[in-house]
Amino acid sequence: MSKGKNIAEFDLINDYFRGMTQQRRDVLLGIGDDAALIRVPKGMDLALSVDTLVAGVHFFPEIPPADLGYKVLAVNLSDLAAMGAEPAWVTLALTIPQIDDLWIAGFCSGFTELATRFDLQLVGGDTTAGPLSITVQVQGLIPAGEGLRRSGAGAGDDIYVTGSLGDAALALRCKQRGADDREDMEQLRMRLDRPVPRVEAGIALRGVASSAIDISDGLVADLGHILRSSGVGARVTLDSLPISPAVAAMLEESGDWSMVVAGGDDYELCFTIPPDRKDQLAAIAKQTGVTLTRIGVVEEGVGLRCLRGDGSIWQPEHGGFEHFSNGSGQY
Ligand code: ADP
Ligand code: MG
Repeated sequence: MSKGKNIAEFDLINDYFRGMTQQRRDVLLGIGDDAALIRVPKGMDLALSVDTLVAGVHFFPEIPPADLGYKVLAVNLSDLAAMGAEPAWVTLALTIPQIDDLWIAGFCSGFTELATRFDLQLVGGDTTAGPLSITVQVQGLIPAGEGLRRSGAGAGDDIYVTGSLGDAALALRCKQRGADDREDMEQLRMRLDRPVPRVEAGIALRGVASSAIDISDGLVADLGHILRSSGVGARVTLDSLPISPAVAAMLEESGDWSMVVAGGDDYELCFTIPPDRKDQLAAIAKQTGVTLTRIGVVEEGVGLRCLRGDGSIWQPEHGGFEHFSNGSGQY
């Protein structure tokens, strides 16, 4: 902390952050000095990504701290997954209104749970007093030149997504509308608060996918990034989108596809693959335990067309969650 460093801050670092994750052999110096020292293996590219979560914007302030600790890391790991990177190191900048031991312990337990799963070491950070806001930076490794990008999609490539779409947006809507007394609410809430970053799938897609992105702002917005970066268009069939029974029931009632294609917070991967590599996907799905669903095809031209079952074009009312707009996606 730059201002007013005090005993409590040192205690926090020693009591919580120092022992929060495992020790990696490639970390020469972790928490406790002015910077961490890391030995990056030869022949590997370093992937870096940072994300901030702000109370009231990205999460309900009353979210259980363990879920928050998990989610702030999960959303960052999802970005690494989209690059095909293997997670390795992480830094944590924590701004908290006051030091509440119970809250910190909960936060750290959620963070540690996910860090342990992916062999990540927390190597540094910063702790400041202020309105609750958390910034996590993750770093990962990719064999030189093999990083997946948004820019490689070509006309004729098939478009796939991992897992299923819309559950997190449905959970958010149920909470916002006070309709969270449904039987499957806990399952839905897990999809919102505890997304599983598709790290193994991202790694397995190196050298297979022609482009990739993680879906954080909704399929339309994020596939749109691939299309613009790649200078192509695409067609997606709504009926082919992978959805849970809960989302299917919601669709049946409202016919509102926007939650599925523009809801956000899915943290699934969307990727493209040339047709002649498609036969590799079955093995990848089996090896990673993640379902891979073909949802459309890349075309020449620009723009994304979403087709209903009858072939008519469906227009989203809004393209996805955007900060600095009057969007309705705020918590
Ligand atoms: P400085 O004033 O030199 O920036 P700090 O007092 O902020 O150092 O931090 C002391 C040590 O504790 C540093 O190694 C820093 O990386 C680590 N640290 C501080 N806050 C956190 C945190 N929230 N998570 C992990 N490490 C932290
Ligand atoms: Mg500092």
